[in-house]
Amino acid sequence: MAQLALDNLVKTFSDGSDEVVAVDTVDMSLNDGEFLVLVGPSGCGKSTTLRMVAGLETVTEGDILIGDESVIGTEPRDRDIAMVFQNYALYPHMTAKENMSFGLKMTTDLDTETIEQRVTETAEMMGIEDLLDDPPKELSGGQQQRVALGRAIVRDPAVFLMDEPLSNLDAKLRTKMRTELKSLQNELDVTTIYVTHDQTEAMTMGDRIAILDDGVLQQVGTPLECYHRPANRFVAGFIGSPSMNFIPAAVEDGSLVHREFTYALSAETAAQLDGYEEVILGVRPEDIQLSTATGPEQTVTATVDVVEPLGDLFHVYVTIDGQQYTVTVEDGSNLGNGVTVGLRFPEDAIHLFDAD
Ligand code: ADP
Repeated sequence: MAQLALDNLVKTFSDGSDEVVAVDTVDMSLNDGEFLVLVGPSGCGKSTTLRMVAGLETVTEGDILIGDESVIGTEPRDRDIAMVFQNYALYPHMTAKENMSFGLKMTTDLDTETIEQRVTETAEMMGIEDLLDDPPKELSGGQQQRVALGRAIVRDPAVFLMDEPLSNLDAKLRTKMRTELKSLQNELDVTTIYVTHDQTEAMTMGDRIAILDDGVLQQVGTPLECYHRPANRFVAGFIGSPSMNFIPAAVEDGSLVHREFTYALSAETAAQLDGYEEVILGVRPEDIQLSTATGPEQTVTATVDVVEPLGDLFHVYVTIDGQQYTVTVEDGSNLGNGVTVGLRFPEDAIHLFDAD
């Protein structure tokens, strides 16, 4: 167990005459035993960050500390780190048991009996004790991933690094493994960076989440902090499903003015917008109040396009001035294509962002 610090980490790749800044001055630290999810769209630098921590990629600038020690220049196998990959990366010619014990044989001087005992205990924890004599090709994807996780756990490392470990599993198994992995990590209390492009995985698994875009860290916080107090428009749009709605509006005399509506703001909010001419009004689908009655003041008129029943909720897609927005309601059974509705955006639920 250890703290892990990424100190102004930079990675540039040279591609002929082009230089790609894959990771741009990423600065963050994990507490001992913390589960941090590094999340962002494809190509934003997640894997490169993880690979630098693992020692599989050189660092262009910055430092990586495990505990108080810099690991720059330390060989991957000497970093006290175990990594789990998306494609499991099991040795095909070895049984599950051999896969799990190989790392211990290579990097420790534990005797065979101790190794055997640790592998058996870990296999029991992972529910794979009956599979230990099987080679990977005889195992399902879910079983292979359990062996890969078991191989990481058995080493009892200071840090786990997980690179999209669940993304090759089908949706149902992925959800099950998500919960299992989270409770396993709670139990083991090992400092973990978990990489995913899936914001639901990030929200449900992370003690904190770190959101990366184009190599730059956008926000590090608890899932609910990032959800309720997004640092910027990128985070606001990336975290949450369906995504936050963004509606452009002009600021005039303490009101937000759109072609289809004028929305009077409280004096307090209006004061914050002093000096702005254009803003983006952000509002989450579940925060919009939708009504079929002609509403009070501050009601925006919209037309329903599509209603999607989800069982417990409905997603209602509405159009305002040719643009589509999403509203989540508990009961949308009375709505359908072409229905005119009134929308309210409660002021405590709106987010205001700089216009592009
Ligand atoms: P992610 O894991 O978020 O999908 P990556 O870390 O794989 O992103 O990639 C970040 C950026 O670095 C991308 O633009 C990618 O094309 C680039 N990149 C990654 N590895 C290399 C490499 N070996 N050579 C050149 N460019 C690379």
